[in-house]
Amino acid sequence: MFDEKDLILDAKHVTRRFLASNNRTLVACNDVNLRLYRGKTLGLVGESGCGKSTFMRFLVSLDTPTEGEILFHGKDITRMKGEVLRQNRQKIQMVFQDPSGSFNPKMKIRDIICEPLLNFGRIHKREKDAMARKYLELVDLPGEFADRYPHNMSGGQRQRIAIARAIVLEPEIIVMDEATCALDVSVQKTIIELIVKLQKEKQIAIGFIAHDLGLIQSFAHQIAVMYLGNIVEVIPAELLNTHAAHPYTKALMGAVFDIHMDFSKKIESIESEAPSPLDVPEGCPFQDRCGQCMDICRQVRPTLKELIPGHEVACHLFVKEGEKQ
Ligand code: SF4
Repeated sequence: MFDEKDLILDAKHVTRRFLASNNRTLVACNDVNLRLYRGKTLGLVGESGCGKSTFMRFLVSLDTPTEGEILFHGKDITRMKGEVLRQNRQKIQMVFQDPSGSFNPKMKIRDIICEPLLNFGRIHKREKDAMARKYLELVDLPGEFADRYPHNMSGGQRQRIAIARAIVLEPEIIVMDEATCALDVSVQKTIIELIVKLQKEKQIAIGFIAHDLGLIQSFAHQIAVMYLGNIVEVIPAELLNTHAAHPYTKALMGAVFDIHMDFSKKIESIESEAPSPLDVPEGCPFQDRCGQCMDICRQVRPTLKELIPGHEVACHLFVKEGEKQ
């Protein structure tokens, strides 16, 4: 679906296990295979606790998978250490849900934006002011904001500062973890517009974590749906409305609020709650909530199968052409 020459990051068979009490094991990510392409956005959606943040944290080396590899331009970042890892961090940056938590409240905006540049020796202290102003303007804020402190700014303005700080090192990838969900809807829209504008200008690959499928669909190029640590569907965003196949994806779509909704019709939703990640059943992880569950679903875990190029589904309702169920 995308041009393979634009492939930047290739995560292969990534699994993360955590030891829990009573010698039990929690599998936060199970054999995840995902790719990021230059200038494209991959939206990763799913309910809280499904493993989407765990996966994205591997990309910025905040955690390491138990198994698998994450190739960035062919080099496995899960094995990088010391100075190699430090230098690589410049290329993959992260924007968090609450930027205040990652800002030092005693630092002025000028220092917050320029700190990464100084840490990597990319500018001299005397260049700070000009650089801060340049990046403030890039995120559509006035240059005078360089003299402010984070607490003198609104939530939307702070998130713009977080984006400025993330792009100042000219990264190839930005990971955004629910980066707009704490903002008012109108501010959310302007931040998404800013992200799209910067992506077009700088050809950055974005990994965007969200639980809101409607929001992701509005600007992502590809969507991966995660359930209890498993990728259950990967689909081009423009095909979501017409080709979404996995019952869980369809349930998420049914739950998207739309102002033009016909409230006289029953809203499709998942009735029960997801099982504990410590208690994932054999077979399909979605079986207890799926209205189309079959015998095979309780015995065999479905793996991702490509239905058409760029569209993969892990569900026994779908089999590859020529394959017998
Ligand atoms: Fe439902 Fe079976 Fe598909 Fe799982 S594999 S989503 S239980 S139909």
